[in-house]
Amino acid sequence: MTKEELNPFAIAQAQLDMVAGIMNLDPTIHQFLREPMRELHVSLPVKMDDGTTKIFKGFRVQYNDARGPTKGGIRFAPDETIDTVRALAAWMTWKTAVADIPLGGAKGGIVCNPREMSAGEVERLSRAYIRQVGRILGLEVDVPAPDVNTNPQIMAWMVDEFAFLRGHNEFGVITGKPLPLGGSAGRTDATGRGLAITVGLAMKELGMDPKKATLAVQGCGNVGSYAAAILTKEYGLKLVGISDETGAWYKPKGFDPAALMAYTADHDGLLKGYEKHDKDAQPITNEELLTLDVDVLAPCAIENQITEANADAVRARVIAEGANGPTTPGADKILYDKGIYVIPDFLCNAGGVIVSYFEMVQNAYDYYWDLPTVQQRLETKMSSAFYAVHETAKRMKIDNRMAAYVVSVERVAEAVRLRGWV
Ligand code: NAD
Repeated sequence: MTKEELNPFAIAQAQLDMVAGIMNLDPTIHQFLREPMRELHVSLPVKMDDGTTKIFKGFRVQYNDARGPTKGGIRFAPDETIDTVRALAAWMTWKTAVADIPLGGAKGGIVCNPREMSAGEVERLSRAYIRQVGRILGLEVDVPAPDVNTNPQIMAWMVDEFAFLRGHNEFGVITGKPLPLGGSAGRTDATGRGLAITVGLAMKELGMDPKKATLAVQGCGNVGSYAAAILTKEYGLKLVGISDETGAWYKPKGFDPAALMAYTADHDGLLKGYEKHDKDAQPITNEELLTLDVDVLAPCAIENQITEANADAVRARVIAEGANGPTTPGADKILYDKGIYVIPDFLCNAGGVIVSYFEMVQNAYDYYWDLPTVQQRLETKMSSAFYAVHETAKRMKIDNRMAAYVVSVERVAEAVRLRGWV
């Protein structure tokens, strides 16, 4: 595939174009929803430990705020591009709409490799980002959260820097914070838990027994590791395949996700060398992981993993997209024709933003919920989002991704119309 065909923003726009045709979307609203409403590009000078100053590039894209303040994570990645951030901001818009929470969509990114930086350098970079981007953030404006390579500690530095800018604490400006700084119970595993809830519902609809089902997960970070842990422990699936950026492993007897998490915690977040630690774990390739003969495949790493080149070889019955944009439009068609049940990214991974929204609500009230309350409210939200999409797909005889778009684009378009923008 060409670079342009794999450009995530071109993919996000192509998906919107397809759904606009299916739902006869008003052409002016369609044109409006194809582009971000606002974006900010920033240049961030940061003092490095060796005494030099390095200039980093950062972005914040506020895609659409018709339904409420924009919301979306901040990524630290060496290959970050404005088009990736635009695509992720668009998907956040559809995600908050499909989850039916009163927020719009945004995303942020910094081009950097935090693995090659000291904790002090990462802190100075995080604070520099807020000094530049803070002017367009706020509880009622735009609320960031963690994403790839960012974590609660980074959110804590950011919320602290924002407090200096404003002259008072405003915890609700950022979610995914540590608990002592206004974080929510249940936020850390929320995306993985939301994924597990949708897998449970999909299996129920397909008449599959989770206790007899196998699972492969691509990516062993926040989303992948918790999804694996919850699906095995609470739903009874057997995890037979796991991968990360350093490799992939197959274990027919089943991995213990807690052991995988303990290993990554001791090895710089990575599974590298896992076969030496667990003799039953056979190294395989990333391609082999994606095409394992499993019931459920959960791509929870990066974009463009299931493409026209490998979609036909995928053998899973259910694909649960924990990552954003793991499947290309060409692959979608192949998966649909093969009868594979795809739980599309912005539905499948909505658990994180749902609990982030709960965190904003708790910050606004300064009153905090216990874990069972958060988990039960998450389950209710995920379940209504799942069935809105599942029923739309059945009724319109379209794939689940298009159905998720129909549900969310209709909700955003309605808000745009009601505001009198178009
Ligand atoms: P993370 O940084 O915690 O983990 C990413 C994992 O993917 C790591 O194990 C990494 O080694 C692995 N990986 C990277 N490149 C890979 C490759 N080429 N092949 C195989 N594995 C690879 O990130 P995360 O927060 O778990 O996010 C993963 C995905 O989920 C991203 O697409 C992100 O946008 C999406 N997402 C995250 C959240 C959240 O709450 N964290 C919410 C919604 C969506």
